[in-house]
Amino acid sequence: MAKHGFTTNILHCDRRGSVEHGAVHKPIHTSSQYAYADSRELAAVFQGKSGYTYARQGTPTTDALEKKINLMEDGLSSLTFSTGMAALSALFTTLLRAGDHLISSQYIFGNTNSLFGTLQLLGIEITLVDPTDAKAVAQAIKPNTRMVFTETIANPGTQVADLEGIGKICQEHKLVYVVDNTLTSPWLLQPRKVGASFVMNSLSKHIGGHAHALGGSLTDTGLFDWTTYPNILDIYKKSAPAGWGMLQIKKKGLRDMGATLAADAAHRIAVGAETLSLRLDKICSNAMALATFLSNHPSVARVSYPGLKNHPQHERAKKLFGARYSMLMGVELAPGIDPFDFLNKLEVVILATHVGDTRTLALPAAHTIYYEMGPQLRAQMGIADGLIRLSVGIEEEQDLIDDFARALDSCATS
Ligand SMILES: *Cc1c(COP(=O)(O)O)cnc(C)c1O
Repeated sequence: MAKHGFTTNILHCDRRGSVEHGAVHKPIHTSSQYAYADSRELAAVFQGKSGYTYARQGTPTTDALEKKINLMEDGLSSLTFSTGMAALSALFTTLLRAGDHLISSQYIFGNTNSLFGTLQLLGIEITLVDPTDAKAVAQAIKPNTRMVFTETIANPGTQVADLEGIGKICQEHKLVYVVDNTLTSPWLLQPRKVGASFVMNSLSKHIGGHAHALGGSLTDTGLFDWTTYPNILDIYKKSAPAGWGMLQIKKKGLRDMGATLAADAAHRIAVGAETLSLRLDKICSNAMALATFLSNHPSVARVSYPGLKNHPQHERAKKLFGARYSMLMGVELAPGIDPFDFLNKLEVVILATHVGDTRTLALPAAHTIYYEMGPQLRAQMGIADGLIRLSVGIEEEQDLIDDFARALDSCATS
């Protein structure tokens, strides 16, 4: 088969498998059990032969989605979960043990930060550093460091991690390097290219893309040498070493912890993924136009968007993401304009949490998603009290600009 591009691969992936009746989508397999005519065959599948037993460990529908994600991320293997947080929980709790040290970002997603608190209670040491500076990561390495975990772009501060620099450090020190690619998706960046050992995606965001299904995934890029990793259990060392890490996550994480992706959600995410590149190109161009408009508006004090030349990591973002700067933007209004009053005046933009939808979303970040964190941690993350977080959608550009212009003008005159 000739080598094809990103979207062609997604569109024709199911059809190239064994789909009944010429269907172009993998069907939604709802069966929780899989029966065998031959008991020896059943035993063989339990002992590692490919096949299905009980749906908690996967179905033909989740497998079809995993194949697509694997093509998108240029991975060795991929595994799906019921949510992005389930993927992260499985990753950290199966690859790390009490006494291990994890290095991550001080700007990390709020729920991941909260999960880190749980890991610390279980005896895992965690150091949070500024990931825009690879030296900060290097300085935090200790003899018990096993893993470095970072996001591509921070939410809502939009700091862009030095993904290449961190990749080199992890390679030198033989550390598992995990990149949360949720905000960029494989269309803007394949973290394998910056040396990531594992890639995590919340499928609930760009890949599903329509805010109608939750899911998460992990991809092993094949770059890490699992024979050097001390935490793989002997029982998972029977097959080729390249698969050890993922096998342990699949057995100890997915099978034992049980956060399996439902087949209907897998189907909806797979259909959403067909238009990932189209949606994201439109989202990025809308966001760039909106960032430019807002940064020139007298009622706006500050816009954080990696596409703007004054963004501290603008050049890095341009290189890493191919001059596409994501959907995420932070906006601070001029003194005297109440962000709640402003938000209430928006008509097209929806007041809701979530990111990566087809619709444009806005919320007051400090008072919602970062409320539980408290003022001290918020200050450390650079989240101002009046910060508005935007996730830009695919509406017509002029409708978005008009909506913001009208809301800002009516705040300025009232
Ligand atoms: C949303 C999100 C997650 C968690 O994904 P869910 O599917 O909502 O559980 C993890 N990391 C980042 C960067 C996210 O934006």
